[in-house]
Amino acid sequence: MTEAVIEKLDQDLYRVEVPLPRNPLKATNSYIIKSQPRNLVIDTGMNREECKSVLLDAFQRLDIKPRETDFFVTHLHADHVGLVEVLSAEESKIFFNRPDAEVLGMKNLWQVVCELAGKHGFPAELVEQAIDSHPGQRYSPSGNVDFTMLEDGDLLHYGDYHLRCVVTPGHTGGHTCLYDSELQYFFSGDHILGDITPNISTWVDDRDPLGDYFASLDKVYEMPVKLVLPGHRSMIKDCRRRIKELKEHHRLRLAEVVEIIGGGKPKSAYEVAAEMTWDLVAERWEDFPLMQKWFATGEALAHIRHLEFTGKVKRGGDGNKELYTLN
Ligand SMILES: [Zn+2]
Repeated sequence: MTEAVIEKLDQDLYRVEVPLPRNPLKATNSYIIKSQPRNLVIDTGMNREECKSVLLDAFQRLDIKPRETDFFVTHLHADHVGLVEVLSAEESKIFFNRPDAEVLGMKNLWQVVCELAGKHGFPAELVEQAIDSHPGQRYSPSGNVDFTMLEDGDLLHYGDYHLRCVVTPGHTGGHTCLYDSELQYFFSGDHILGDITPNISTWVDDRDPLGDYFASLDKVYEMPVKLVLPGHRSMIKDCRRRIKELKEHHRLRLAEVVEIIGGGKPKSAYEVAAEMTWDLVAERWEDFPLMQKWFATGEALAHIRHLEFTGKVKRGGDGNKELYTLN
């Protein structure tokens, strides 16, 4: 067992830092509410030994027994949902949302992702390799998890914590946060992060995730929040300021994408991504690690899609490959 970093945030509320080896996110925050008769664990970490041993150590030290514990998962990504199956007992409820459960349960998910990647210009020789290295492919729960589905406004009560589900699509289609309106605590998952910007990308459908994300940011902006407890990195005190920064970040990104698409021949999402500025050590696109190219292309596509939905960009190409020009 690896010793866990456990931080006590409030009475019966703990943050466990679950390490994500060789991943730029560094760690996932797993929150534990210790209460009678049942405990609640919010998000887990990837389904891999390094995460599991840390959470098992935390469970032992905080005296958390799986059969007395329920789980809440903010969204479908492996660094949040990964360990629910392994850590839970038969008595455990695992709360989740329907749109994300549907994606997680797609039999042909990786085939759909693979086809979409090719359509958007991701080099064919790299697609398979990218999917093999994808954390969603490697570290998701292995079987069919018996989820209890929650919807916007549903309430969970654990000890002195009264948590309301706030559905915030954008980062994923069904991403759900938890809000304690008395304490004004907001468990934000990957909807609002402090030191890094949540990745908004699209791989499985024809929606406008960035448009959804803006609407979800506006929804949270209206709520009084004293402390944001995010899925990664440090707590955020000024929620509204962070929301404004995130919106500004995407506004600048959209402007950059318009400029790239406006310059010359029709471009694929992959080509747009290669021209965008990225906050990475590698300077040239060619030197980017494969998974960073992958996430960058998804992010570029989400921005292009939003420009398409708002009428600034139009889709062309031959059906096999989608190329974009200014409208
Ligand atoms: Zn995520």
